[in-house]
Amino acid sequence: MQIIESSEKYDVCIVGSGAGGGMAAHELTKAGLNVLMLEAGDWFDSEDFAMFTWPYETPRRGGPTDRQPFGEFDACFGGWDIEGEPYTTTADTDFSWFRGRMLGGRTNHWGRISLRFGPDDFRAKSVDGRGDDWPISYEEISPYYDKVDRLIGVFGTNEGIPNEPGGIFLDPPEPRCYEHLIKNACEDMDIPIIPSRLSILTEAINDRAPCHYCGQCNRSCATHSNFSSPSVLLPPALETGNLKIINNAMVREVTYSDGKATGVSYVNKEDGKEYKVKARTVVLAASACESARLLLNSKSRDFPNGLANSSGVVGKYLMDSTGTSVAGLIPQLMNSPAHNEDGVGGGHLYIPWWKDNSKLDFARGYHVELWGGRGMPSYGFMGGIHGYNDMFQDRPKGRGGYGKQLKEDYRRYYGSVVGLSGRGESIAYEDNYCEIDPNVVDEWGIPVLRFNYEWSDQEYNQVKHMQETFREIIDEMGGETFGDMPGKEDGYGITEPGQIIHEVGTTRMGDDPQKSVLNKHCQAHDVDNLFVVDGGSFVSQPHKNPTWTILALSMRASEYITDQMSKRNI
Ligand SMILES: Cc1cc2nc3c(=O)[nH]c(=O)nc-3n(C[C@H](O)[C@H](O)[C@H](O)COP(=O)(O)OP(=O)(O)OC[C@H]3O[C@@H](n4cnc5c(N)ncnc54)[C@H](O)[C@@H]3O)c2cc1C
Ligand code: SF4
Repeated sequence: MQIIESSEKYDVCIVGSGAGGGMAAHELTKAGLNVLMLEAGDWFDSEDFAMFTWPYETPRRGGPTDRQPFGEFDACFGGWDIEGEPYTTTADTDFSWFRGRMLGGRTNHWGRISLRFGPDDFRAKSVDGRGDDWPISYEEISPYYDKVDRLIGVFGTNEGIPNEPGGIFLDPPEPRCYEHLIKNACEDMDIPIIPSRLSILTEAINDRAPCHYCGQCNRSCATHSNFSSPSVLLPPALETGNLKIINNAMVREVTYSDGKATGVSYVNKEDGKEYKVKARTVVLAASACESARLLLNSKSRDFPNGLANSSGVVGKYLMDSTGTSVAGLIPQLMNSPAHNEDGVGGGHLYIPWWKDNSKLDFARGYHVELWGGRGMPSYGFMGGIHGYNDMFQDRPKGRGGYGKQLKEDYRRYYGSVVGLSGRGESIAYEDNYCEIDPNVVDEWGIPVLRFNYEWSDQEYNQVKHMQETFREIIDEMGGETFGDMPGKEDGYGITEPGQIIHEVGTTRMGDDPQKSVLNKHCQAHDVDNLFVVDGGSFVSQPHKNPTWTILALSMRASEYITDQMSKRNI
């Protein structure tokens, strides 16, 4: 195959434009470095998207397509299955791998839940003996969390909960009606419930407008009021004149010679040709599993098992959050008069972890995300309404319905369903990993990943606790829970690994080069001009969603890269 080599040598080549890559581009270009960003997906501009589209304006009413699994109004191009980009699993493994394929990756339609990890999260092994401690402490990362808060903007409240650190918060929005009811029930049960922490602006900062409460954050945001990489990080990086972005560039491998990464090779998805670019430093931010794949596919005489993999740890210690959901119908919310409670595109309250693990049969914790209310109806609106009447003695029994009765039912039940979703910490196990499948390649001939993953009793017990607690809360609200409590044979309703889309840990950091891939600056132990700034570096995945920590670590690594390059150390 003909390989087209560029003569230009960039200071830094970044692979991927999501949370990790966007932050690296922002920081490195600001520092004056000449940066090339390669992104496998297409260009994306939230100003030209579906934020203001009504369901009736399209024949599909916003329904999903192959390229947009969350619906055609959702700013997500990619998904669990991408044509031409397969992955495989070992015999007993169910693992789902979600990939964004667009400028900004998954930051365009993520939930914007922006939680800091706490002091105990970085030293969890010292607390309960499981997993490993991080090589950095909360005190070391906290100044970067502060800078991310100020740069991007996040609302919330400082509550003084020891392992749920506060931040530089904007004021949170008021709770919605259904959230007040959940709050009342939780307070009666001594469960703390506090304002959410979401990276959505409730006041103007850094030339970005505040949220106008359309409730459609999953559509990205035409007014740049919530965080996505192309909305917040890439425009200022481009304005420096130091950033070049090449879209539809599927990176195949990191090139290497004499102890150094020399650049990358990529397939241009538009012309199908292979290109090579040179850089003094290579920064991988293709998402945790994809960055592991790139390293494993970058083989040389020095690194026959993949670049920077002398430890054999690349791909191992893969983690996703545990999760399960319970929903219920709340009679108190039925027949409520029409009112607008759209708010931000996400819950206004959440439940942080509140229990003492020494009295439980699992380690670590979970937090609870709330949902419900009267969001704008779209495709799939109030599925299952035909069964609601069966829950009430005085309603006509039997399934189905049409005409007047169905319309009345919609009015009666609209906004009366609430849900509770748990997101919990799983422990890092060496046996949960991704590796290269020797028999399968993607559309461009690049070997694909094979996943091996299993939950342990620790995760099952945690999810059982979620199910029991959520059912008690709905009960306390006087509600009717949908469905019976799942039993042990159904894993207590635990989601399949990968489905919470918090996969991290595949290129973990550590002080010992024999047991970790990166040092505490996200720099490869084996190759000093190679960095990984996505969730690959995580040593543990606390119940807190990962992206705020990816952003803080990427910012910290970028500062280190700038310093080391200016000193000519790399
Ligand atoms: C529905 C949903 C809800 C979520 N909600 C939350 C939440 O509320 N809070 C939270 O913290 N997290 C949430 N997440 C997770 C969050 O989106 C990710 O943690 C975050 O985006 C990861 O950032 P990243 O930079 O590692 O990867 P991504 O954002 O996925 O970016 C990686 C980029 O690299 C590109 N790429 C991949 N391979 C290659 C290659 N070979 N060559 C070139 N480019 C490549 C991809 O196309 C992509 O654009 C959610 C995710 C989803 C999907
Ligand atoms: S809810 Fe606010 S931040 Fe979200 S899309 Fe609407 S205006 Fe933008």
